[in-house]
Amino acid sequence: MQAKNPTVFKEITTEENEAEFQIRFDGSGQAGMLYSRSGKAYFVVDSADYWYDMIQTSIPPAKKCACKNAWFTVKFEYVKREEYDDFREVIIHLTCTECGKAKRIPVQIDYGPTDALYDKPITFCEKPVIKYKLQSATGYWDNAGLEKYLEYMCNMLGLKAMCWYWRAGKRYAEYVDTERLLAIAQKDKKDWYISILFMQKEVALGELIKETDGADKKGCCLKRDIWRNREMIELSSPLNMIGYGKLYYINLCTQFIDKGNVADKSDEFKALVKTMFKWLGENYKKAGNGYNTEKQEKVALPGNAGLT
Ligand SMILES: [Zn+2]
Repeated sequence: MQAKNPTVFKEITTEENEAEFQIRFDGSGQAGMLYSRSGKAYFVVDSADYWYDMIQTSIPPAKKCACKNAWFTVKFEYVKREEYDDFREVIIHLTCTECGKAKRIPVQIDYGPTDALYDKPITFCEKPVIKYKLQSATGYWDNAGLEKYLEYMCNMLGLKAMCWYWRAGKRYAEYVDTERLLAIAQKDKKDWYISILFMQKEVALGELIKETDGADKKGCCLKRDIWRNREMIELSSPLNMIGYGKLYYINLCTQFIDKGNVADKSDEFKALVKTMFKWLGENYKKAGNGYNTEKQEKVALPGNAGLT
C-alpha cells in the first residue's frame, strides 16, 4: 500500500549557488520573496501571481529569528495530495544561520499541475517592487443605499453582474439580472453574497473560477482578486460595523502588472471608472474615500488611506 501524503524535500540554492536568504512573506501565506546575500530577489514557488497585488498595500517585513538574525538556509517540503500526484502544500523550512533555530511557513497550493513548483522552486525577480494605480472606495450603506448603487451599475451603466454567493451551505457563481442581484444582495432568506463583479462584457465563468468545488467541498471558489488583472469592479460583501451599519468596499484598479511591468487598462474602462466615481460623489455623502448614505454621514471611517 502506498504511503499517505508522501513528501519530498528540496534544498534551495540559486543558479549562482547562493544558499542563504532573507525572506518576506505575507501573513496569509500566499506570496513570498527570498533575497540572496548578493541582493537578488526570488519569488517563492507560485508567488508571482499574488506578490504584486499584495505589496500595493504593504510590503511584509523580513522574517527574523528569535536571536534577531534575519538570514536563513531554506528547504522546501512538498506535500502531495492523497489521491493525486499533485502537491497540495509546500512547507518552507528556514534554519537560522546564526543559532540554527528552525521556522516553518506552510504555503497552500490550490491548483494543478504543480510539477513546475518542484522543478523550479524559486524564480528570479528583476523588480520586486512595482506599484500600480489601485483604487478603493467604501460606503456605509443602508439597504436603500446598496440598492441605489446596484441599480446604477446594472441599469444606468449597463454592466454585467457576476454574483458569487452562498445558498444552503454551498457557494455558487453566476451572471444575474438586476432583479435577482437585488434579491441576493439584500440577503433574502436563502442567499448571501460573497462578492459581486461588474464588467462591460461577460467573461466565461470558467475563466473566473479557480475550483468548481473547494477544499471544503462547499461549492465553487473564484480566483483571488480577479478584478485586479481584468476590467472589473468588485463590490465586497458588507462588514457589519456594530453601531455604525454595514460597510461595503468597492475595489478596482485602472492599471495592472503585465509580465513584470505596469500596464494601463483600456480607455473605455478608465472612463467608466471616472463616471462611476462622479456619480458616487453626487449621490452619497463623501468622507475621505467613503461614499455614505445620509444617516451614516458623520461616521468616522476606518483607515484605508494610502490607497490612491
Ligand atoms: Zn537564530
